[in-house]
Amino acid sequence: MLSRRNFFGAAGLTAAGLLSNPPQILRAMPKASSDFGKVKITDVKTAAIKIGYKTHLVKVTTDSGLYGLGEAYPKAEVAQDIHTIKKAIIGEDPLKVEYLHYRLTDGYVSRGSRTGALIGAIGGIETALWDLAGKILNVPVYQLLGGGGYRKKLMLYHDSGSPKTLDPQDWAEEALRSKEYGFKATKFSLGRLSGDKFNGTIPQYDMRTWYNILEGAREALGPDFPLGVDLHWRYTTRDSLRFAQMVEPLNLWFLEDPMRPENPDAYARLTAASKVPILTGENLYGVQGFRPYLEKQACDIIHPDTQKVGGLMEVKKIADLADMYYISMLCHNGSTPVGTIASGHACMNIKSFIALESDSIDMPHWQDIIVRDGPIFKDGYLEISDKPGLGIELNEDVCRANLADDSGFFE
Ligand SMILES: [Mg+2]
Repeated sequence: MLSRRNFFGAAGLTAAGLLSNPPQILRAMPKASSDFGKVKITDVKTAAIKIGYKTHLVKVTTDSGLYGLGEAYPKAEVAQDIHTIKKAIIGEDPLKVEYLHYRLTDGYVSRGSRTGALIGAIGGIETALWDLAGKILNVPVYQLLGGGGYRKKLMLYHDSGSPKTLDPQDWAEEALRSKEYGFKATKFSLGRLSGDKFNGTIPQYDMRTWYNILEGAREALGPDFPLGVDLHWRYTTRDSLRFAQMVEPLNLWFLEDPMRPENPDAYARLTAASKVPILTGENLYGVQGFRPYLEKQACDIIHPDTQKVGGLMEVKKIADLADMYYISMLCHNGSTPVGTIASGHACMNIKSFIALESDSIDMPHWQDIIVRDGPIFKDGYLEISDKPGLGIELNEDVCRANLADDSGFFE
């Protein structure tokens, strides 16, 4: 039998040699002098930032001086929600991320913690806990969520500006701007142009005008460039299908949210009949919100929003469930670089990931909210760094210059 000394000798190693050049697994483990198991959460604070709309950054502070950053789903009441629910986790060990997420959701079910607005506040806290856990353990968040491996960088898709005119040339130029930014995929939002705004029908005039706009964009982009269309929940099943059938020759990437999100049976009917892939999910919450859509095969691609569905682990659980039904994922996103990069850490571990949305690249200060030494997006892709946590440091001057209200910067 090999003794410990003989084992090292037989392997041509010495214990001293191992310690002076530890393999990856040992380097990733917390040192005896680290903060592992010793850190306690002391507070959760918010800062409201303006990026075209108001969004809330979240900071979880600890008694060690380490802190975690996250971003909540943007809505006016998030700061108050976080102030109310934070007592459920103060004094706790921040490394118990999933348990703390459970504490936050289980304790506030009646306030919308699983299906309503509060879940977006919880998503922001959960993200900050992952950032904190990564900093404590000295590893990037994507390592904690599964280790990556599916891809080295994440494809982005551009939520392009949709021109106010109805001239197809203007829309074609807008589509080409997506290419100029470097994006490898884009989408348009199409709004109602005529007729009754309540009954859910799509007038023939709207269909024809939209078709002309999309035909011009398709011609400008070329036959293969992914081009999606967002209809923002306004229409009946029947007219959604009529439009989907009309645009079949344009080889659209997806038709997003033609109908309201409450009825998976209606989406199942549309999805079964449409040759254009149907995308939905930005207004569904948590795994349970997506379950009927998956069980009924009610969409071709899911579109969860990481903050809105409850955080990084929740979006991974949703995507993994969808993958069991051979349904892939586009990641909805309307966040600052904090929420965008946080979503990226989750997407590194989602096998069925296709692309992450970018809707604010036009905004001059958007990229500058974090400290950076180059563009955040390169050639239409997001690369996730190997720095501990989310790998993000806020540019405080830019954040303070773009505060969305007078509640201060994490005060
Ligand atoms: Mg949308």
